[in-house]
Amino acid sequence: MRLLLVEDDPELGRRLSERLRSADFAVDLARTSAEAEDWPDLDKIAAIILDLGLPDGDGIALLRQWRARKVDCPILILTARGSWQDKVEGLNAGADDFVVKPVRFEELLARLNALFRRHAGKRESGLVLGDLALDPIAHTVTLKGELLDLSRQEFRLLHLFLRRAGQVLSQGDILENLYELDAPRELNTIEVMVGRLRRKIGKERITTLRGLGYRFEK
Ligand code: CA
Repeated sequence: MRLLLVEDDPELGRRLSERLRSADFAVDLARTSAEAEDWPDLDKIAAIILDLGLPDGDGIALLRQWRARKVDCPILILTARGSWQDKVEGLNAGADDFVVKPVRFEELLARLNALFRRHAGKRESGLVLGDLALDPIAHTVTLKGELLDLSRQEFRLLHLFLRRAGQVLSQGDILENLYELDAPRELNTIEVMVGRLRRKIGKERITTLRGLGYRFEK
């Protein structure tokens, strides 16, 4: 899943991106309000982590603009401003959660995952489809109760497939959802990854639709 992190503090931006990447997110980093406002592919971003104190403007104004433009992904405010007035203003402007710095990374991650669950309208913490279960927090996948050994990319791909089970995903959709904006994108890597995933979870689960893409069968 791809996140947009809006953070002007270079050290915090770097550290947080690293930790989020190690938790298997793809992370795009914007350092100013202007940069974040017109971020390309905003519709492919699964969630936004937004700092409020930005060098060229206020995160709240940015948040209002996005919501006015119907950007509907979960948005979590991560800020040093922690008064109740700030929280009320942030949540009323359309934020889904409000976290005050400093925060333990584990808490931030748990809150993000809670946002994804709410956004997906699911109450369980993991994604289960038949005998296949993915736990995004423990970072495990089991098939018929047996733990599977998946690479980081395979895990990301399976996570996307499970969230969008039954829908057709083109190779382009998959690339845009799995990789950061400036990452090299090669379509054949998707084919290779799908092949590897099929060998691990059973090839009948993923249907190839010639010229269209893939569908993960429900
Ligand atoms: Ca800041």
